[in-house]
Amino acid sequence: MAFENLSEKLGAALKKLKGKGVVTEKDIKESMREIKLALLEADVNYKVVKDFIGNVSERAVGADVLESLTPGQQIIKIVNDELAKLMGSDSARIEFAKKPPTIVLMAGLQGAGKTTFCAKLAGFMRKKHNKRPLLVACDIYRPAAVKQLEVVGKQIDIPVFQMGTQVSAVSIATAALEHAKHHGNDFVIIDTAGRLHIDDDLMQELEDIKAAVNPDEILLVIDAMTGQDAVNIAESFNARLEISGVVMTKLDGDTRGGAALSVKAVTGKPIKFAGVGEKLSDIEEFHPDRMASRILG
Ligand code: GDP
Repeated sequence: MAFENLSEKLGAALKKLKGKGVVTEKDIKESMREIKLALLEADVNYKVVKDFIGNVSERAVGADVLESLTPGQQIIKIVNDELAKLMGSDSARIEFAKKPPTIVLMAGLQGAGKTTFCAKLAGFMRKKHNKRPLLVACDIYRPAAVKQLEVVGKQIDIPVFQMGTQVSAVSIATAALEHAKHHGNDFVIIDTAGRLHIDDDLMQELEDIKAAVNPDEILLVIDAMTGQDAVNIAESFNARLEISGVVMTKLDGDTRGGAALSVKAVTGKPIKFAGVGEKLSDIEEFHPDRMASRILG
């Protein structure tokens, strides 16, 4: 399970409150201090932690909580609520186009898990929503990237549209839409060039593809294991591209949870999906409330 370190620390901080019949403001202060440390150790953004503790404290010291029969339980519920709120409250869904195809532009740094996720999403959409996806290879800088998309497409029997690496990414994306219309593909996933760092030329290319195909979703794929770096990357991409959501990959190996807990609060954009393993079936819709409950155990 993801976030086990954080889970353990939060659990320890809340345990003291759990069975208490009477909770004083001093008890709350002490618990908040421990929760704050646990979140900072988990690499949650500092300002996000401060706001979170402020919100929980304010609600916890209310008379309705302290004078209730189960104050400890109520405070744990408040922590749960606020954790869910931090990650976005409602589960964020994919916006389907009113007139098919739905177009998803996938962006992200190299190694984040973008190509893998393109295939995961295609398989998920076919299985859960009866879609007929088309994968589009727009990374024209690495022949290996086109090949990789073809390989994963083949593994799950999803068609891949490619025009090699000599044609511009914008032309490929535009041609792919025509192809989709003629072949009944109602869900088009555009895999774009990975990059090692935020790079102006490649960012411009993403803007050009966006302008050319008018995507219904722009999903940014980030690696949960990179913590606050992932959040900074998301801020930069969002500033240029105005993303519609985040895909948090490698959650299976993330014991801390800092990126997952901060990214919505910092960027305003929800996590829509999580990658939870290397297999193409290792994809989950991201539900903040369920995630909060999982973290609190
Ligand atoms: P890209 O450069 O962003 O297209 O990244 P890739 O899709 O090639 O993935 C990079 C590496 O991360 C590969 O070894 C993938 O198997 C691995 N990977 C991708 N998603 C996940 C995930 O959710 N969990 C784990 N454990 N590994 C992943």
